[in-house]
Amino acid sequence: MNIAKFPRVSFAHLPTPLEPMKRLTAVLGGPRLWIKRDDCTGLSTGGNKTRKLEFLMAEAVSLGADTIITQGATQSNHARQTAAAAAKLGLACHILLEDRTGSQDESYNLNGNVLLDRLHGATVSKRSGGVDMQAQMEALADDLKLDGKKPYVIPGGGSNAVGALGYVNAALEIVYQASSMGLNIATLVHATGSAGTQAGLVAGFKALGGQVPVLGIGVRAPKEKQENNVFDLAQRTAQHMGLGNIIKRADVVANCDYVGGGYGVPTAGMVDAVTLLARTEGILLDPVYSGKGMDGLVDLIRKGHFDKSSDVVFLHTGGSAALFAYPDAFSLYGYQ
Ligand SMILES: *Cc1c(COP(=O)(O)O)cnc(C)c1O
Repeated sequence: MNIAKFPRVSFAHLPTPLEPMKRLTAVLGGPRLWIKRDDCTGLSTGGNKTRKLEFLMAEAVSLGADTIITQGATQSNHARQTAAAAAKLGLACHILLEDRTGSQDESYNLNGNVLLDRLHGATVSKRSGGVDMQAQMEALADDLKLDGKKPYVIPGGGSNAVGALGYVNAALEIVYQASSMGLNIATLVHATGSAGTQAGLVAGFKALGGQVPVLGIGVRAPKEKQENNVFDLAQRTAQHMGLGNIIKRADVVANCDYVGGGYGVPTAGMVDAVTLLARTEGILLDPVYSGKGMDGLVDLIRKGHFDKSSDVVFLHTGGSAALFAYPDAFSLYGYQ
């Protein structure tokens, strides 16, 4: 596997730390819990999209693009990291935000990531929930081309075979870090949405011999659909790297029992998990992804899903900027 052959720009603070969560481990009575701090990738409060954008933005630059277009939900962390990356490269950025929740809340619509998108100078426009966002981006790209611009369209979440290379690279980083620490990872757990993170990790670990099982905790789609999305993208990523058909359907495992009322809709378990991490480890999760991912991890631990003497790593994919869009969720469930 030769990832160095793909063009890449350097945005992220790498390697991100891989740290023990001693107080959380004690509270739950094992397994030994670790956290891979991709909330610390550095760009505009960090997050997992920055690793994908290192490859996507390099492709945009190599194609001579002067304008970036992407899309996401209102509180998209991907949109915010793309706006920051475009600013760093001096490119224009257009963000289309899909109203998936229908919330009229002022914080949800204007604070958190939306505030930061605008601060980074992106042009932000909204679309109603359920529209074909890819088609909306392509229509905007056509309009911009008529004005003489050279747009580059990044899919939602930066999840295609180019973006997923960021998580192939993360798999290399994790294997290297774990082996230098003498850490035998039983499972790596993280929140899975647009599938690029899990697809890249699965492809990367597989290319390295498949020693780290990955468990995605879903935040939107049902299990079968989520696993199929990840499997499809993992296969395309492996093919993009010239590795052929190395991915098996059984390499892709997601648990989608923690979505609750839908994408971006708070759950009691999410609020408990975000609060637990804030109070045991001083770490900020987010309401849409990592909070639901941690809810899944904690619940599965309590149900005895993991061997108590094993080492389990939670990949923190970032997103804490979205906390400021959800202040009411915490008071609703009895926290300040
Ligand atoms: C996008 C995102 C995820 C999910 O990653 P995908 O590659 O879209 O599956 C998880 N956590 C956070 C904070 C995110 O912004």
